[in-house]
Amino acid sequence: MSIYIDKVIGLSHRYTLKGDTPVILLIVICVLISLGYLNKYNGNEKLVKIDCYIIFSYLCCMSDDAEILLEILHDILGDEKLHYESKGQISFDCPICDEDQHKGNLEVNYFEHVYKCWSCGDENNTKGPLGKLIDNFGDKKQKKIYNLLQPENHKPKEKRKDYLKLPTGFTLFKDSSLVYPVRRQAYNYLKQRGITDEIIEKYGIGFCDTGAFSGRIIIPSYDSKNKLNYFIARSWDPNSRAKYKNPEASKDEIIFFENTINWNEDIHLCEGAFDAIFLPNSIAMLGKHMSDLLLNTLYEKANSNIIICLDSDAWADAVKLFHNLNGGRLYNKVKIIKLTGDADVADLRGNISDYYYKMK
Ligand SMILES: [Zn+2]
Repeated sequence: MSIYIDKVIGLSHRYTLKGDTPVILLIVICVLISLGYLNKYNGNEKLVKIDCYIIFSYLCCMSDDAEILLEILHDILGDEKLHYESKGQISFDCPICDEDQHKGNLEVNYFEHVYKCWSCGDENNTKGPLGKLIDNFGDKKQKKIYNLLQPENHKPKEKRKDYLKLPTGFTLFKDSSLVYPVRRQAYNYLKQRGITDEIIEKYGIGFCDTGAFSGRIIIPSYDSKNKLNYFIARSWDPNSRAKYKNPEASKDEIIFFENTINWNEDIHLCEGAFDAIFLPNSIAMLGKHMSDLLLNTLYEKANSNIIICLDSDAWADAVKLFHNLNGGRLYNKVKIIKLTGDADVADLRGNISDYYYKMK
């Protein structure tokens, strides 16, 4: 019983439940328990159920959605700077860029369920639907409550996804004749870039001799369920106008090489797939910036070190990424590589041990 009392008291502190509400909640729960309603659940399930009752009763006790939402926003972002109730507009200090300057740049419209930081919204992607703000800065319980009061038309729409397929003409090297000229061109290109047979085998690298991706090396990427989630198509013709040709899939919604990642071991972060294949346990960010998905996944799942290995021209991005990652449960586990000159990880064939940089 004491655990339920603790829970109700905890919640009434968190959400500043007023007047008799905590008492009523407790009575409701006592009645439910005495009626034996919870007997069919075991220990953990029981707690989850109780949680739901508390949240539900809490929602019933509060007068309207806006009030609840404001409570959550205050919990996450602290005191407001400006508040126009008639417009549903309220501003706070931005949790990313404010740095105790109290500028109140982060504006939330709780009628429209959107937010934006006027200072770093574009740069740090601190803008978008309110659910994202709560995902990024709130906790699970706050998100649960928000989902309940989020209006239907502001819920993220389920996108119907045609699942990605390997391009027409895709052939694995082992499935093609050694003397087939197209295979030889493709294979020579990989050899000249230092890519070994082991790497080709490990990542299922192939080539296309027909179709829209003809004349390109294909590096496929699979998700945690071993379903293709992306592929890189690199032309081996030095005169090709487009070195890379991307599939019609959003690279922000996938983790490249996800099915090969061991989250308990050191993870390398590279820009491109041609870098990532040279390093053990590595993820290609497919650019110099990290997607929210990858950032959140690393925070959640990475249990060992994370080593940032961007190209030398992306040192500023690498440092920014370092600071972005080096917090919470990843604190002190983020390492960074500082490459010199034009050589990237692929040029170095993954020999990066001399380039560790000590961040101050
Ligand atoms: Zn900001």
